Amino acid sequence: MSTSSQQSHSHTRVEIGCPSCGTRLQNGKMLEGRDEAQLSHFQCEECLHYCLALVFQSQLGVSQVVMVTDLNFEDVVRLRDSAPITPDDVLNLHQMLNHKNSALLFAMKQKKKAVEK
Ligand SMILES: [Zn+2]
Repeated sequence: MSTSSQQSHSHTRVEIGCPSCGTRLQNGKMLEGRDEAQLSHFQCEECLHYCLALVFQSQLGVSQVVMVTDLNFEDVVRLRDSAPITPDDVLNLHQMLNHKNSALLFAMKQKKKAVEK
């Protein structure tokens, strides 16, 4: 056994790598912390991407989920405090995108017709 035991006395320390460049993330700011799960915000020192890391403990050991985000720490805190996004919001966005797509398709068809003439 040569794995470096990182089990500190008080707090579980887990090495979290940047999903973008693999650099070890440090100096995370804790957003939410309970005994079994901690959500922290990091900024990668190497590529400067923001990352959200969820570290949780289960019977199988410590697991982590890390994702790159474009939200800085203040944005995350603000969004967490504001009202959650409703399904209607998602639906509206979806419909908006669909409309945009159909308008684009229509424009392309018109252009194609014009070219065929
Ligand atoms: Zn990075």
